[in-house]
Amino acid sequence: MFADKMILRIPGPTPIPPRVQQAMNQPMIGHRSGQFSALFARTAERLKPYFGTSQDVFILAGSGTSALEMSVVNTLQPGEEAAILVSGAFGERFAKICERFGVVAHRLEVPWGKAVTPDLLQAFLADKPQVKAVFATYCETSTGVLNPIRELAQVVRQHSDALFIVDAVSCLGAVACEMDAWGVDIVVTGSQKAFMLPTGLAFLAASERAWQVIDQKKPLAFYLDLKAYRKSLAENTTPYTPAVSLVFGLDEVCSMLEEEGLPAIIKRHEVMRDMTRAAMRALNVPLMAEDAYASPTVTSCDPQGAFDAEELRKVLRTRHNIVIAGGQQHLKGKIFRIGHMGYCEPLDVLQVIAAIELSLRQIGAPVELGAGVKAAQEVLLAHV
Ligand SMILES: *Cc1c(COP(=O)(O)O)cnc(C)c1O
Repeated sequence: MFADKMILRIPGPTPIPPRVQQAMNQPMIGHRSGQFSALFARTAERLKPYFGTSQDVFILAGSGTSALEMSVVNTLQPGEEAAILVSGAFGERFAKICERFGVVAHRLEVPWGKAVTPDLLQAFLADKPQVKAVFATYCETSTGVLNPIRELAQVVRQHSDALFIVDAVSCLGAVACEMDAWGVDIVVTGSQKAFMLPTGLAFLAASERAWQVIDQKKPLAFYLDLKAYRKSLAENTTPYTPAVSLVFGLDEVCSMLEEEGLPAIIKRHEVMRDMTRAAMRALNVPLMAEDAYASPTVTSCDPQGAFDAEELRKVLRTRHNIVIAGGQQHLKGKIFRIGHMGYCEPLDVLQVIAAIELSLRQIGAPVELGAGVKAAQEVLLAHV
């Protein structure tokens, strides 16, 4: 096997397109140069369609969690209350960040694999008029659930004055997001998922409503002070040294996304989701998310003891050079997750399914070779 052909099918980091890799290899430039300012202004502008906003998009050096934290420390103060929609590991992360800064976190928890529905949220908010912000996860990466953000935003708008803050780290750039039209106040994401870059850039956009709150608050952190980023962005730069090479890469990513076009990108991810799910059903591997809430970027499968998910992952990795993800927290060792986002296309999905079939046979699980591939091909055939 070729070591450099190791195939990443995890929900981030995702494979880097060669032209993006090449763009990141450009010689370093000064971050206070006119050349960098032009690059930075251009990329910040080019990100707006993926957020669905006309507001500024801020780019900072940090993993996705830095943007999650940024959304908390600029909008809340210790003792204030927030509602956190927890449908898995990443919802829980938002709650922990809030608590670290002394914010009172009210958790609306649903079982892992389920989505938070508008009805649940409406009932939850009914007796919590003091809540200042509602935090949600768009794609809950730990379960493969895509929460209905548009509908949830409507509930927040109609039944509360709270800001609505969304973690879209594992799906922005692959799914629809109309931040302005839906009434979402803050959207955050990161570079290493659907944006096809290495880890290290985080992005955040805030609504006018959010800025009214932010302008009245003293930020609870120094590096993540949004007002400093806004002041710098007005001068086409960042308050602290930007990750210049990653921004070179981001510029190239924007070109790729523009060449394909957002509607086609969204469609491609939906097709990959449907192929993966059809294949797993054909192989009798239960899916965690219901069809209505299944993420186009990651699929979680729960063999429910029919075979060992860790054994499958090990054979995939050691004998077929393909890496898929395991479960997080209480699902560790129990489930497996297939990432199909970013630099990934339908034929790549056929490859991972074929390899899963081979691996299932190799670990002694009952499998009809080709059954999953065939089901996925049939899905694809309807779209090509
Ligand atoms: C990957 C991810 C994050 C960010 O994680 P980092 O490791 O800090 O980049 C946040 N939320 C979700 C839903 C994610 O999938």
